[in-house]
Amino acid sequence: MNESKLIVVLGDQLSLNQSALKQAQAGRDIVLLAEVAEEATYVRHNRHKIALLFSAMRHFRLELEALGHIVHYISIDQAVASLEEAARVVLDQHAVSEVVVCEPGEYRLLNQMRSVWPVSLSMPVNILEDDRFLASHEDFELWASGKKQLRMEFFYRKMRERYQLLMDEGQPAGGKWNYDADNRSGWRNQRDIPQRPDVSIDSITSEVIAEVNQRFPNNPGDLSQFRLAVTRYDAERQFDWFVTYALADFGTFQDALVEESPWVFHGLISMYINCGLLDPLVVCQRVEIAWREGECSLSAAEGFIRQVLGWREYIRGIYWLLMPEYKTRNTLNAARPLPDFFWDANTDMRCLSRAIEQSLDHGYAHHIQRLMVIGNFALLAGLDVMDVCDWYLGVYVDAYEWVELPNTLGMALYGDNAVIASKPYAASGKYIQKQGNHCQQCRYKPAKTTGPDACPYNSLYWRFIDRHLDTFGSNPRMGLIAANWRKRDPEDRAVIVQWADKMIDEWT
Ligand SMILES: Cc1cc2nc3c(=O)[nH]c(=O)nc-3n(C[C@H](O)[C@H](O)[C@H](O)COP(=O)(O)OP(=O)(O)OC[C@H]3O[C@@H](n4cnc5c(N)ncnc54)[C@H](O)[C@@H]3O)c2cc1C
Ligand code: SF4
Repeated sequence: MNESKLIVVLGDQLSLNQSALKQAQAGRDIVLLAEVAEEATYVRHNRHKIALLFSAMRHFRLELEALGHIVHYISIDQAVASLEEAARVVLDQHAVSEVVVCEPGEYRLLNQMRSVWPVSLSMPVNILEDDRFLASHEDFELWASGKKQLRMEFFYRKMRERYQLLMDEGQPAGGKWNYDADNRSGWRNQRDIPQRPDVSIDSITSEVIAEVNQRFPNNPGDLSQFRLAVTRYDAERQFDWFVTYALADFGTFQDALVEESPWVFHGLISMYINCGLLDPLVVCQRVEIAWREGECSLSAAEGFIRQVLGWREYIRGIYWLLMPEYKTRNTLNAARPLPDFFWDANTDMRCLSRAIEQSLDHGYAHHIQRLMVIGNFALLAGLDVMDVCDWYLGVYVDAYEWVELPNTLGMALYGDNAVIASKPYAASGKYIQKQGNHCQQCRYKPAKTTGPDACPYNSLYWRFIDRHLDTFGSNPRMGLIAANWRKRDPEDRAVIVQWADKMIDEWT
């Protein structure tokens, strides 16, 4: 029997080598690509993300057709509500024996495909593992099994050995696994930051931009500044640019907060890896070659490879290991509503306003802005964990639940019962001052804790310690801070906590 199959390709599966497409027989099977309202609207996605995915999907369609595939493309103006409905549209028109799909990156959708689709479509649905990731579910479960603590560092070492990245004769290159200590420099205008090259906007992308502006008028994102690659070729050019002009300084300034540049020396590639335009193993191998050829230091190469091979795979492993229960966690019972300035960046806190503004306008903030500026604020102010997670999922161009949720709930908000972080990433204004130059432009003073010109992060930090003394007092990595706080004059402590309470009440 040689009946055709329906191959469903999601917007973040735009790789020719993904498992479902590998099964597709050109000229026989039908490949479905669908711009559906449900996926575009279940949170208020940034317009940059919608435009990236719609344009990349339309370009991918052309690539598939050039390879001889029969593609059924449903565009947003056809008003198809869900992927399931899109599949039904195709099944009503074609004789198909089976639906084949590479597993989605979100539990909600996987659950629908597993339990609802076979019944509603009256058709077997074959869900294949997404083997574009470098650790399979089984690999991660095996690694996690029997461990009390699931620390990224040990997972990362296994992955280095397995993929033979930065390894010399069975040992880590340079004799150390981790060069993180070299990668924490603050920003004092030490370098010129190179200008990023523009990606040209073709007629397909221009059309998508106009449609997205018209259909999603209330979503964040200023598309007059859309500069994202929408094809594999352009994404690879962007990555080549990064390796040539930014990688050498990537490691050193990975944690820097720079008033003048949202991108600093970062890769700006997560949005491409996550939707399939770049391959995670290939980018790691390319960076290793750059190091071996003397184009960057070992700490820069190791810093980069740790993020992609280590953090990215580990975060995904945690998501699938612990979902769906993971999403219900809220260790610190954080429940305050989001302040309005999360939607308009209108706050005098310069670091926060810059980070939120660029997140809304471009759909991008680098890791330390997400973790130590916005996330730290949300953690200290006790903002509702699910509201914060929805904000991150909506705002960033690279956001999908498998990667956003553990990073936000676990790493930034310390909300997952300490699975990801052994201590909260909580910091006062001093840290932000040390890492960059925002404080010089701010009306608040990072050295002051209370009073109208005091940096809000300071009193919020101590209020956070005060509120969670019982939780953190016994944590060996927080014990000293908690003990110092306990030793302080009770009247001083009360003044600081009341000052922070007053600010939080005004914001939320
Ligand atoms: C609260 C919070 C939310 C986040 N949400 C997302 C998200 O929705 N999607 C997303 O891809 N990343 C997320 N991250 C991780 C990280 O911030 C982004 O991957 C990174 O900022 C993307 O920019 P870049 O490509 O310039 O990265 P670079 O700084 O150049 O790093 C290189 C690559 O490493 C990978 N990487 C680095 N750190 C992580 C990490 N912690 N988890 C997964 N991959 C990582 C990414 O693929 C990234 O492109 C989040 C981090 C935090 C703290
Ligand atoms: S003073 Fe405080 S609020 Fe202002 S930029 Fe510095 S850390 Fe941010």
